[in-house]
Formats: sequence, structure tokens, C-alpha cells
Amino acid sequence: MLDFYAIERLLTPEQRAVRDAVREFVDGEIIPNVREWWDRHEFPNAIKDKFGALGLFGANLPEEYGCAGIDSIAYGLINYELERGDSGLRSFASVQGALVMYPIFAYGSEEQRRRYLPELAAGRLIGCFGLTESDGGSDPGAMRTRAHRDGAGWILDGSKMWITNSPIADIAIVWAKDDDDVVRGFIVPAGTTGYSAPEIESKMSLRASSTGEIVLEECRVGPEALLPESKGLRSPLGCLTQARYGISWGALGALEAVYTCARDYAATRTTFGKPIAARQLVQDKLVRMVTDHSLGLLMSYQLGRLKDEKRMTFAQVSMAKRNNVRVALNGARLAREILGGNGISTEYPVIRHMLNLETVDTYEGTHDIQTLIIGREITGVNALE
Ligand SMILES: Cc1cc2nc3c(=O)[nH]c(=O)nc-3n(C[C@H](O)[C@H](O)[C@H](O)COP(=O)(O)OP(=O)(O)OC[C@H]3O[C@@H](n4cnc5c(N)ncnc54)[C@H](O)[C@@H]3O)c2cc1C
Repeated sequence: MLDFYAIERLLTPEQRAVRDAVREFVDGEIIPNVREWWDRHEFPNAIKDKFGALGLFGANLPEEYGCAGIDSIAYGLINYELERGDSGLRSFASVQGALVMYPIFAYGSEEQRRRYLPELAAGRLIGCFGLTESDGGSDPGAMRTRAHRDGAGWILDGSKMWITNSPIADIAIVWAKDDDDVVRGFIVPAGTTGYSAPEIESKMSLRASSTGEIVLEECRVGPEALLPESKGLRSPLGCLTQARYGISWGALGALEAVYTCARDYAATRTTFGKPIAARQLVQDKLVRMVTDHSLGLLMSYQLGRLKDEKRMTFAQVSMAKRNNVRVALNGARLAREILGGNGISTEYPVIRHMLNLETVDTYEGTHDIQTLIIGREITGVNALE
């Protein structure tokens, strides 16, 4: 692990063991194959069983529901290592854990927890999280998807856009406004009449991940579909806080990948009789990358401690997501420059990470939206709405 500031020493033996196991898996199973998956725009379906067997789904949730029950820093390190492989595969696991398992855990009934969480943890069921609509993801309160009462059950109508895992999902967590205009969450099985999830084909980012729409046309679900404790926009936003935490770690894994590639390339690429690593302009880029990585890692490490102490605020999460993703994206752009023409070839991991990070910078709240969340917190003035 890239660790200029010896953060390794702060890790417990359990955290190191988790990190090492995932690192070995990523080196053995993801890095040798991901270029092919990405080039073909293919989600590697068989990976879900391997993620399940390794306990990577919802690993921070309790053991009584079939999860690993690890602490937040070990959970962060899983995200770091997965995204060192590819942001799309980290997104696949993050959505399953933070956006599907977490809402069932936090807002579901005990019956829903017992029914779904062990299956999701094992990768026998895959889920997706439908919040964004085509009219604008930054303002989820303006959602048009409706949930009308239908006797004891509900009829869902509307559509969702840019939904990770939706084409491959067995269940969807769908957010919709009820007859009182209150946002509620529903577990919708993919086979329900009126539900469809077409794939979005034309994307140049997260190409090893499956992204789609969710279309709900008079989609009837029973009373058991409602997450009973989901009440208002706070519920989906609570899920985003969980996901943003993991992203803050994950982006640094991608930064390690592009930094390492650029450093090694610079050591052997010779121009004007010297390796380009001997040039001050190239060293400046590498120094910026490794400094940003060190600062980001310290921030995420402390954020993990605050999370376990239940003192983490959503503005702190926004700061870590905003900073770490943007420095990873900037680092990927610098690495791309260092590789020259080879920087645009998927023979090297740099352009893949760079294009992936464009999505990571946008989803779960764009860079600008995180800025406005932090700005509101520190000034007390709301510039977001
Ligand atoms: C590959 C991929 C996977 C995704 N996966 C999921 C998923 O699984 N589930 C899900 O629900 N969503 C998902 N999303 C959607 C993602 O969360 C949204 O794209 C994101 O929230 C931004 O919404 P938008 O694209 O509609 O942009 P918009 O909201 O239209 O924003 C456009 C621009 O305007 C800026 N802007 C918006 N409002 C303001 C403001 N008040 N002040 C200043 N600037 C503002 C934004 O920062 C952005 O730059 C995914 C997106 C992608 C690309």
C-alpha cells in the first residue's frame, strides 16, 4: 500500500489482515482482467460470488445478519483496495453494501433484515439503489416517482436514471413520494410486473460496471415492500453518507494505482538522454500526487475513527469525498500527462482510472454539491437551495 506517512503503524492487526486479503484478491483476480472487461464494457458476473465469499458486501454490518461486522477503517481499506483495481467494481460493492444493505438494516423491519441481508452479504442476491431521476440528481427532493396507496400495498409509477447495478439486480431500493408527499423507500423485486431496468450502453466511464435505468409502470407491490422506518428525504441521504465515506477511501486506491504507474513509467522512459523521472517538472507532478494521497489517507483514517465513535458529521464526510475524489482525478490527469501518448491507451491503467473518476466526482453528490454542503455548515448560510 502506498503509505508515505506510515499510516500502516496506526492499523490494528485485523485491519491489516483485511487489507492484505483484499489486496491479494485484487492483484490476482481484478487487475489482470479489468482492462478486457472495461474495453468490452462488460460487468464480470462471476465476480459477485467471489466478493460474497470474501465477505466484501456490507462488511461493516453486524455478523448476526451474515455480514463481517468489521470496523469502519477496515471497511474503508476494502474500498481502497477494490478501487485500486477499478472504480466500477468498487461501485458494484459499495452500492450493494452502503445503498442496498444499509437502508434495509437502518430502515427495514426485523423480518426484512433477516430475509434479505444474509442473501445480499453472500452475493446470492444483488441490489441497486434508485434515487436519481433524469430531471436532475442533485435535487432529489424534486423527484416525480410516486407511491400511491393500493389497499394494503402500493402502486409505484415513475423512472430512475443512472442506476448502478440496475440491469443485473434482483432487487431495487426505490425511493418515491407517497400520497402525503413524503419520500419512502421500497424493496422492489426485479421480476415485479411493471418493473424494468434497461442498460445504459453509451458510457465512457465505469465500463466494468453495469448502469441502467429503472422504469416503474403501475408497478404493484405488497405492504412488505415498504421500508417502514424510511420517512422523508433524510432516509436516502443517510445512505449517501455511508456511501460517501467508502468513496473517500476508494478514490485514494485509484490514486495509488495511477501514481505508481506514472512513477514507474517515469523511471524508465528516457528523453534527451535521461529518464523523465530526473526532470523537475515530472518530479513536481509526482510530488503533488503522493502529497495529496498522504493528506487524503490521514483524513479518511480520522473520519473512520469518528464514524466508529458515532461522532462523524455529514459535512466531514462531504469534505473527505470532495477532496479525495478530486485529488485522485487531478492525479490521474497528471499521470496521463507523464505517460504522454501511452497515457491514452488502456494498455496502461491511467486513462481507465481517469475516466472512471469523472463519474466518482459526480455521483453520490457532485463536487459542487459537496462544496455547498460544507459551505452551509461553516457559514450557516444555505447557498444550495
Ligand atoms: C455511472 C453513474 C452511476 C450512478 N449510480 C447511481 C446510483 O446507483 N443510484 C442513483 O440514485 N444515482 C446514481 N448516479 C447518479 C448521480 O448520483 C447523479 O448523476 C448526480 O447526483 C448528479 O445528478 P445529475 O447528473 O442529474 O446532474 P445535475 O443535478 O443536473 O447537475 C448538473 C451540474 O449542475 C451542478 N449543480 C446542480 N445543482 C447546483 C446548485 N444548487 N448549485 C451549483 N451547482 C449545481 C452540479 O454540480 C453539476 O455540475 C450515477 C451516475 C453515474 C454517472
